[in-house]
Amino acid sequence: MAKRYWNEKIECMELPDMRALQSERLVKQVKHVWDNVPYYRKKMEEKGVTPDDIKGIDDLHKLPFLSKADLRDAYPYGLLAKPLTDCVRIQSTSGTTGKRVVAFYTQNDVDMWEDCVARAITAAGGTNEDVCQVAYGYGLFTGGSGLHGGSHKVGCLTLPMSSGNTERQIQFMMDLGATILCCTPSYAAYIGETLHDMGYTPDDIKLKAGIFGAEPWTEEMRREIERSLGIKAYDIYGLTETSGPGVAFECEEQSGMHINEDNFIAEIIDPDTGEVLPEGSKGELVFTSITKEAFPLLRYRTRDICVLSRGKCSCGRTLIKMSKPMGRSDDMLIIKGVNVFPSQIETVLIKDFKATPNYQIVVDRVGNADTFEIKIELSPDMFSDTIKDVFTLEKKLSADIVQILGIKAKISLVEPKSIPRSEGKAVRVIDRRKLV
Ligand code: ADP
Ligand code: ZN
Repeated sequence: MAKRYWNEKIECMELPDMRALQSERLVKQVKHVWDNVPYYRKKMEEKGVTPDDIKGIDDLHKLPFLSKADLRDAYPYGLLAKPLTDCVRIQSTSGTTGKRVVAFYTQNDVDMWEDCVARAITAAGGTNEDVCQVAYGYGLFTGGSGLHGGSHKVGCLTLPMSSGNTERQIQFMMDLGATILCCTPSYAAYIGETLHDMGYTPDDIKLKAGIFGAEPWTEEMRREIERSLGIKAYDIYGLTETSGPGVAFECEEQSGMHINEDNFIAEIIDPDTGEVLPEGSKGELVFTSITKEAFPLLRYRTRDICVLSRGKCSCGRTLIKMSKPMGRSDDMLIIKGVNVFPSQIETVLIKDFKATPNYQIVVDRVGNADTFEIKIELSPDMFSDTIKDVFTLEKKLSADIVQILGIKAKISLVEPKSIPRSEGKAVRVIDRRKLV
């Protein structure tokens, strides 16, 4: 029988034991950072905190926050806590929301990260009998190497495809009998679409599971991917600053991701005041890495908005769960003075299309006024509908957008396959305004 847990002792640990483990590791970590990272020590001094004030997890709130701005300030070595000679790897963010940041890893850090990914692969049913196709981009981006390392740990036969060359992906998937696919959800959707276009069905491939993450995706998109590839699709979450994918992972229940709490303490804060919110509240996710050696960020503000919950999970794991991030606090666009999150637009599209279509939001400024256009791709079926049907859909979308956002968007329904597909993280927003 397939192994149910990668590390049962940790994944099913009782809460008091987990808190004791976290406390012990936190105390040690704070001392390590104080001794080795002058940048953070200064922040602690400014807040009047010393390592003596941190006796356990209940003192966590006393520590100062770190933000992406700190990472940029301290670029590249300012937050490094080990000599470079002890480091074996550098990875970098994808730069979705600005300048990239770099993170450093010792061999122990790489091992911890890969161990977290191994838990995710095991939770998705992966064993050494699986063929794991890694179609996340390899390179500085953490997706490729993270899943690659985890796949090796589990003992899967690893197919290091990287992203791109989609027909070849499908050919290899078939020839070598891949059973697990790992990539971004938008790329998984594209692989599903291409499989269909090549004249195949899910019966022609052996895939049983997919591990998808690195970008937001909806439940509807999950069902669509599951249908087009004939698999069960699992979510995985992470960020370069805390290691990479594997900080949290989904189990068979598919209702939120278990956080690897033995390595990362999670908190939810009010993004405006920094106040720690009780479990179950929606707010900004903050992580403290308690085992990382080279790049040990304390109270790092992820800017991802989500909810934490410690309800009982049918999988038997006791690790706290985070909901799917509902968008980033800095994902927000201000169009015509109104706050707009791409996820709000996606909600309308799902409602009117019954699935997430390919779409792109284009914002520009003409004179002093913002222009706001949503390009939405019609499916081949819709494309052959009468002009009247298309016109009705356009009017409905337009009205629904006004209702949810309070501002009007130009809706452009475009031909099937005219919006570029993504092989990595999907580019949903094109903001052409030059505001400086
Ligand atoms: P960048 O900030 O440049 O995109 P990363 O490549 O490190 O840097 O990506 C980390 C971010 O990706 C997270 O902070 C989060 O916003 C997003 N992300 C990662 N996994 C998921 C997921 N499963 N669902 C939604 N968003 C995710
Ligand atoms: Zn579970």
